[in-house]
Amino acid sequence: MVNNLSELLSEYPLLDKIRHYQPIYWQNPDFGKNAQLPLSRADVFDAAARFERFAPYFEVAFPETVQSKGILESPLIDISDMQTKLTDLSGKPIPGNLYLKADSMLPISGSIKSRGGIYEVLKFAEKIALQKTNLTYMDDYSVLASPRFHKLFSNYGIMVGSTGNLGLSIGIAAASFGFKTTVHMSVDARQWKKDLLRKHGVTVVEYDNDVSYAIAEGRKEAAKDPKIHFIDDESSRDLFLGYSVAGIRVQKQLKDLGIKPSKENPVFVYLPAGVGGSPSGVSFGLETIMPEGIYPVFAEPDHVTSVTVGMMTKLYDKIAVADLGLDGKTAADGLAVPRSSKIAGRIMDTLLWGSESFEDDDIYRYLTLLEDTEGIKVEPSAAAGFTAIYPTIKRFSDPKALSRATHIVWATGGNLVPEEEMNRYYQHGKELLAVKK
Ligand SMILES: *Cc1c(COP(=O)(O)O)cnc(C)c1O
Repeated sequence: MVNNLSELLSEYPLLDKIRHYQPIYWQNPDFGKNAQLPLSRADVFDAAARFERFAPYFEVAFPETVQSKGILESPLIDISDMQTKLTDLSGKPIPGNLYLKADSMLPISGSIKSRGGIYEVLKFAEKIALQKTNLTYMDDYSVLASPRFHKLFSNYGIMVGSTGNLGLSIGIAAASFGFKTTVHMSVDARQWKKDLLRKHGVTVVEYDNDVSYAIAEGRKEAAKDPKIHFIDDESSRDLFLGYSVAGIRVQKQLKDLGIKPSKENPVFVYLPAGVGGSPSGVSFGLETIMPEGIYPVFAEPDHVTSVTVGMMTKLYDKIAVADLGLDGKTAADGLAVPRSSKIAGRIMDTLLWGSESFEDDDIYRYLTLLEDTEGIKVEPSAAAGFTAIYPTIKRFSDPKALSRATHIVWATGGNLVPEEEMNRYYQHGKELLAVKK
């Protein structure tokens, strides 16, 4: 609980708008300043190399990855029909070109959590295999899918607290190795995610409370057994680095499109933020690999602006949205995180260009428009990036650079959502669009 609320309110006037659930835009005054970061380019490449070593494992354990040779990556898609539609609807053009980074199509979890969540499972599996067997870094890691290793891994456990997708990615990946896996789920978690995990043999513990609580309970439970590894969404360096590998992959995807980010050719990246780990890890990776021309913007529900509030006040995880009187409720289940990560915001101090908040109705409008124009289905949280485009354009002061801008909306999840549920989202968006805003 913060004890100097009135001081904070006078120092940061935006907090008052936030308190009244009004959409806000925060432009980070420290963007682009020099800073000593606790992680480096070498850490990003180390994580990328680990993913490479495990590629033969994925090909065996998850045949859906054979096509990509065991690499978990998503396409960067030109969505100019969506761009035209948005211009028609708003009467305002979006200068530059619009793309979708379709993490909704990532193998295994159908969400951005196939980056961070799965990476930390790999790291743990590799550590045990190196300690307990004669595995070497040069070996073909498909051997880890054999019964011998499955038996070894079944002596160990993995635990995590989650609103859904993190649990889903870790649960499915960890179970494939044979780890005893437990996911502590918050009240926002969708039923189908729990059902799917149980089908994979994962133990699901349900709480009638928010994700901070579920994480705390999981952490306590895991601490009782040294053979259990707890994946901590609030403070894990490995999760963060798993996300950061996107920087290397996107550099190449941009090159293939003829795009080289620079001050004259800015690349805006719009990312939904929950605890802040995935958007920060991705942004860190992009800016580490491409030090010029990347402008990350976070999007948060106006009822759960935890990352924005933490970064703006520099209190980070020491302030929760309840401290401002917010109810923390949102239909974007992946973003229902009342308190931000301990590490993400601090690392983003000089890397984040801005952040904004949106009302839930807007993400349904955008997910319906995306399906109508491009035939791409995403879950509500994953459409949040669209809400940041116009407010960002409005504040970017270089019109010449803006006319050459690349806008990347990071669509963070969706492919595993059951069809009827997706249809309900779509219908809801249709109804909202039918009523003029
Ligand atoms: C997890 C998630 C996010 C946000 O990631 P954080 O690391 O919690 O900030 C956004 N969208 C979807 C679909 C997610 O699953």
